[in-house]
Amino acid sequence: MNDEQQQAFEQCLYRFVGRQVCARTAAKDAVNEAMIRHWAETVGDANPAYTDAQWAARSARGRIIAPPAMMYSWNQEGFPVVAQGRAPDAQTELVDLFNENGFTGVLGTNVKQEYYKEIGLGERVHLEMVIDNISEQKATARGIGYFFETLASFSDQHGDLIGTQRFRVLKFIPPETAAAADGGGAEQDTLQTPTRIAAPRGHDNSWWWEACDQGQVLIQRCRNCQTLRHPPRPMCGECQSLDWDSIESCLEGELLSFTELHHPRIPGYPLPLICGVIRLREGVNLVANIVGAEEQALAIGMRVQGKVEQVDEKTMLPQFYPAENGVEK
Ligand SMILES: [Zn+2]
Repeated sequence: MNDEQQQAFEQCLYRFVGRQVCARTAAKDAVNEAMIRHWAETVGDANPAYTDAQWAARSARGRIIAPPAMMYSWNQEGFPVVAQGRAPDAQTELVDLFNENGFTGVLGTNVKQEYYKEIGLGERVHLEMVIDNISEQKATARGIGYFFETLASFSDQHGDLIGTQRFRVLKFIPPETAAAADGGGAEQDTLQTPTRIAAPRGHDNSWWWEACDQGQVLIQRCRNCQTLRHPPRPMCGECQSLDWDSIESCLEGELLSFTELHHPRIPGYPLPLICGVIRLREGVNLVANIVGAEEQALAIGMRVQGKVEQVDEKTMLPQFYPAENGVEK
């Protein structure tokens, strides 16, 4: 996209600021005990203010209140939207505009809720939503893109504001598309089979992946107090030092936990895929695939040995084998 194209694109883009995504609409159901209980059970919130009528009656409020964080649940459209689809609105138009201009990547980055008023059983939540702001073009670790934020306002049946929710989304040009647009198309054609999703590499972790590309698994070490840490991050959690180096892992470890993935069936991944948490001998945990054994043959606590291996045309990853298999280092 040259400067002129970008200008034309942004002119269309910023027209979306302030546009309504949905007009003030009442939730299908009034605030009710069943939905509150399901929500509280699902998130594991045992606060009796939400579910225990007797306790709530004796409390300062004198009644059950809906969990404030549940605000967004009341106006969810439910299963019909899966079958019938959603009527186009300003947000879908905005997303289409991004996609048509190459910003096909999407990443939800922030949710911020604010609460103003408690509501009780029998009250009815109303929702309205607008596109609140769109950033200038940003260079992010994911690629060039724009952040946009929707602002949802929740009010009760009297029109009093209950709370708000800001949802921030990054729409960006994925690196593969950017490479193709820059004339890397010929190179792309050489990828015959789908590859795994590339790990995002940013300022704080690209060194780790670059070592992995060279067949090494490094563990970050604080230069001040020598504490090891993984995954990579800028600061030592023990002494807050920003000074670090790294050691190479021997990739011997113990299987702490594992799960076998059958879904989602994303191209590039051999399924089922066993993902494990491995306690490395050096003392940090690493998440990696367990290969060379059926899921039935694995057990928590078993010894495993890792190897950095090429898993597809462009991806090197540590993979772990049961140590009994006598894998070569
Ligand atoms: Zn430290």
